[in-house]
Amino acid sequence: MVSETSSGLWCAAGGFHIDPWDPVARAVITHAHGDHARPGSAAYLCAAPCAGLLRRRFGGDVHIESVEYGRSLTLGGVRISFHPAGHVLGSAQIRIESKDGVTVVAGDYKRAADPTCAPFEPVRCDTFITESTFGLPIYRWDETASVIADLATWWRTNADAGRTSVLFCYTIGKAQRLLAELMRVTDRAIYVHGMMLGMIEAYREAAVAMLPVTPVIERAGPTRRGTSAASSFAGELVLAPLSARGTPWMRRLGDVSDAFASGLMRVRGVRRQRGFDRGFVLSDHADWPALLQTVEETGASRVLATHGYAEPLARYLAEHGLDGGIIRTAWEGEGMGD
Ligand SMILES: [Zn+2]
Ligand SMILES: [Zn+2]
Repeated sequence: MVSETSSGLWCAAGGFHIDPWDPVARAVITHAHGDHARPGSAAYLCAAPCAGLLRRRFGGDVHIESVEYGRSLTLGGVRISFHPAGHVLGSAQIRIESKDGVTVVAGDYKRAADPTCAPFEPVRCDTFITESTFGLPIYRWDETASVIADLATWWRTNADAGRTSVLFCYTIGKAQRLLAELMRVTDRAIYVHGMMLGMIEAYREAAVAMLPVTPVIERAGPTRRGTSAASSFAGELVLAPLSARGTPWMRRLGDVSDAFASGLMRVRGVRRQRGFDRGFVLSDHADWPALLQTVEETGASRVLATHGYAEPLARYLAEHGLDGGIIRTAWEGEGMGD
């Protein structure tokens, strides 16, 4: 029902692509991350809570239609519906039904609770197309509450030493999840890099409860080394995108301890190689046990893995009696695993 093309997944019977990486006539989008929602298509269709994020990414004059979770509509010869994926605000699994059966394209998903989006909903199907960003047995996540407690301790220790805590994280999803989860430990405003303001605003428009934020504003005039202005962020927590790391923007933050919040931080070698002072293992993707649990809950007899460690996951599933395969994407490798 769904086939691979040079632009991405294509449903011929329905006349649409799913998360295409080239501009197409009709793009059905699982979620607003850059490796799934690309600009330039003539028309977009997404889950209702995703539309605000897409508009911010693509601008106002782009043709974006959205549909509530669970409501099905007919496109060509198929019925399609969107079901919560629990990954980021508006993220959806796409269920496609025809006379040949049911296919679900999961997009990115997670099973851990996340106060910023609707929880993942298992959907029964014949063919399940799963992500595999962390599709290796080494990837297992700790309880979010304990990760947040560790983060609060790191922040407090830095504050006692007069340092600024800089936490790098993904701009869509992770930043907002941190701002929501940190309500467990503080009610203070959190400083954020200006690049994050737009998406935080989009989440607030969707009524997601988060801590207040203050943008780190460019100060007028040069800041002299050793002046108190340079260290006025001491004791504060600052969220920033990875792209800000090592840029002059960092200088105004004074003496910093830096950390990265990502599933990638599970692997000590990666943490050391990237040179962060700390790593907090907080992912918006399913870990290994959650991938296997999800595959089982779908009841699918055919499972295709994509986005990440597709081969190891497909091999494991094939060894366990499923018809497993892989789908290649334009986004293999570094950078997309959050
Ligand atoms: Zn994603
Ligand atoms: Zn992705």
